[in-house]
Amino acid sequence: MTKIWFAIPLWQRVVAALLLGVITGLAWGPEAESIKWIGDLFIKAIKMLVVPLIFFSLVAGVCAIGDLRKLGAVGGRSLLLFMVTGAISVGLGLGLGTVLQPGAGLSIPLPDSFTPSTETFDPTDMILRFVPENVIDVMATGDVLPLITFAILFGIGILLAGEAGLPMVKAMDSGAIIMQKMTLIVMELTPFGVFALMAWVAGTFGTDALLPLAKVVGLNYFGCALIIVLVYPAIIKLFTKLPILDFFRGILDAQAVAYSTASSNATLPVSMRCTQRNLGVSRSVSSFVLSLGATINMNGTAMYMGLASLFGAQVFGVELGVTEYLLIAITGTIGAVGAAGVPGSGLIMMGLVFGVAGIPMETIALVAGIDRIMDMMRTMTNITGDAAVAVAVGHMMGEIDVEEYESDDDV
Ligand code: ASP
Repeated sequence: MTKIWFAIPLWQRVVAALLLGVITGLAWGPEAESIKWIGDLFIKAIKMLVVPLIFFSLVAGVCAIGDLRKLGAVGGRSLLLFMVTGAISVGLGLGLGTVLQPGAGLSIPLPDSFTPSTETFDPTDMILRFVPENVIDVMATGDVLPLITFAILFGIGILLAGEAGLPMVKAMDSGAIIMQKMTLIVMELTPFGVFALMAWVAGTFGTDALLPLAKVVGLNYFGCALIIVLVYPAIIKLFTKLPILDFFRGILDAQAVAYSTASSNATLPVSMRCTQRNLGVSRSVSSFVLSLGATINMNGTAMYMGLASLFGAQVFGVELGVTEYLLIAITGTIGAVGAAGVPGSGLIMMGLVFGVAGIPMETIALVAGIDRIMDMMRTMTNITGDAAVAVAVGHMMGEIDVEEYESDDDV
């Protein structure tokens, strides 16, 4: 029995759980609330991961960027482009979520444990919030914004320590890998959590709940498509003046693999082959930019962070002010950097954004059942962005074979 269970890919089990949960809820009615505790258990397990996952992934990420310094020019340019496109993407998600209101029409009462964010916009306060007074306290209360500052500084400290910092680089890398494994274990709870929560939502709110979810999926595809057809061509035009169609033709294979695997990491070998062989970017630039990009450059994920935040706020009736919007923009960009290039990592990293902006974590469970289908599009966007930056940086460094880029004999 367990053999059959694990032989089915997780995302298929989650989608089945979603459908079954909706059917059960519709048939059972408000009584379905009696199994909501299973969903709460799942949410607690996710919350448990957030603090250590952010800490280890960010420190390990900063350490990896340390190697990047050696490559100086390439690293600096790539990072700048990654950050700019990341910020534009979160902004796009926030804009779509605000204007098109995916959460309108579904209203779920706030969970008892929820404490509203009491922020008002005050730039000084905002700066002060970034710096922790006591890092243990920050970790204990799950206050992720100052935790990010500490993690980044800790990473820089390791780099400055040079030789003496090396054991810590190893420890942090290993911590990040261990946290990813723990995430995999918790993800195995997803079908049960999704089943229970969807039964509860459908039982309490009836079919009204389905339209908003379909809207989130639609907007996720729309937002990602905008990034692919507007942002990336703009980068290529701005930095290289090379024809756009050749870019899309060259990267098609990698896009197909990304869409079907929902993993930037798994797509990496194909992205490398496409960028080197079809787009003519030199081996050194493409390997470097794409490896770094698969780990930290996730524009589709960043866009989705903004969109999902607005969805959660609308569904649970949480008011978002200018401060929250800014916090979502900042943490969304950082969260996308912290998300690993594996399926579903964006879903877990949303805990970071929600924690900071004061949006109920229950939102994660609400969208978990439809995450895979959105993840596929996010990942395709993510790897297309890596390739666009590789082409731009390759061109700036004079390391692109234009003839190869423009030629039709793509593999
Ligand atoms: N699966 C995505 C990737 O590998 C990350 C995400 O969950 O958004 O790029």
